[in-house]
Amino acid sequence: MRRQIVAGNWKMNNDLVETETLINDLKKQTKTSHAEVKIAPTFTSLWSAFQATREDDIEVVAQNMHFAENGAYTGEISASMLKSIGVKTVILGHSERRAYFNETDADLAKKVDTAMANNMEVIFCFGEELQDRKSGNEEKVVEAQIKKALFHLEASAFKKIILAYEPVWAIGTGETATPQQAQDMHAFIRKTLATNYGKEVANAVSILYGGSVKPNNAKEIFSKPDVDGGLIGGASLKAQDFYAIVNAF
Ligand code: PGA
Repeated sequence: MRRQIVAGNWKMNNDLVETETLINDLKKQTKTSHAEVKIAPTFTSLWSAFQATREDDIEVVAQNMHFAENGAYTGEISASMLKSIGVKTVILGHSERRAYFNETDADLAKKVDTAMANNMEVIFCFGEELQDRKSGNEEKVVEAQIKKALFHLEASAFKKIILAYEPVWAIGTGETATPQQAQDMHAFIRKTLATNYGKEVANAVSILYGGSVKPNNAKEIFSKPDVDGGLIGGASLKAQDFYAIVNAF
């Protein structure tokens, strides 16, 4: 059985006090599913979030990191800094990082390598833009994104990779891929993995869907055979909504 995962990407929301409040609210929720729960607060809240969830079944993950181990990179955060506060997992390649901070596939390949060298887990995000889908190029775009950033890795590295398919046109727009669109793309991703690494690897990698997942659509999306969970933005900022999604499995 593949791991089922629901991860909340808080993006640039929640200061220290708001982080504490949301975590307290999260702790009051009841989990009825087997899904792993992860939250990704902003850097300034990571340590406090890590402390506050020590006893709980919630993993605190980072939203980004730099590929260099250390040095003259003003404003950046390294893998060892994250590890030093207990963070073991990092989101890489989010479409907002790609679009607003010019992260390229080559940058992401380096970041993935740094994560692997530090024995960290990666939630690797990718997805096509609206014009790609309109022109029927969504599979080509997605295939290129995962190949360029990940396919230099050895098969064993995929034990540390969680994939997150997030069509850009569905992020924060209220527009969700239909459950069938998500399933079709996830099956394509798994097939691409199988072609390069074999079926065993492909069948073991969890593939999350992200893009306007809400309590009212999560169940149907998660019911698809190749959808192993979700990366949740907006709806992860309210404890009740987030756990309604966690419990949609
Ligand atoms: P959304 O964001 O759920 O608000 O669409 C998802 C994401 O960007 O990870």
